[in-house]
Amino acid sequence: MPFKWLLGGDQTQKRQVIQEDDQVDRRVIDACFCPNGHSILTDIRTFQGLPALTLKLLGKKGEGLLAISPVIGDCNREFIDFEQVPGEVVEICCPECSMPFPLYNECPCGAHLVALFTSPKTHFAQCIGICQRIGCLHSELLSERDLRLFNRLGYF
Ligand SMILES: [Zn+2]
Ligand SMILES: [Zn+2]
Repeated sequence: MPFKWLLGGDQTQKRQVIQEDDQVDRRVIDACFCPNGHSILTDIRTFQGLPALTLKLLGKKGEGLLAISPVIGDCNREFIDFEQVPGEVVEICCPECSMPFPLYNECPCGAHLVALFTSPKTHFAQCIGICQRIGCLHSELLSERDLRLFNRLGYF
């Protein structure tokens, strides 16, 4: 019957839409912490309506802030009151307590990745790696749940 066929088609489409929505939900960093447990998601800037990952940068020419999109796969970032020296390796700190984020891995560019923890337990198995070099967009997302996603995208 034509009506049944149409109804079946509709239901299939709805299921696909819901699955896509689920994926979108998983592709957002909704929690991120400094080693002292401060949340570094702030609305100093927003990306796609979401609060940004906010980092304090210490460079040779002074300090400033960096706001990074919390959307995985979105490389948008914005420097705030920071004089960028392309290629400079800077210290990345908590905007609230200025505690430097710990180094945890080497970046392919030769600088280091620092760990931003996505759980208040500040465990290295659940973190985002951000490169210390200005202009290097390499970053990693590490968590048991998101490892597959990271493998597919290669970056966040
Ligand atoms: Zn802090
Ligand atoms: Zn790098």
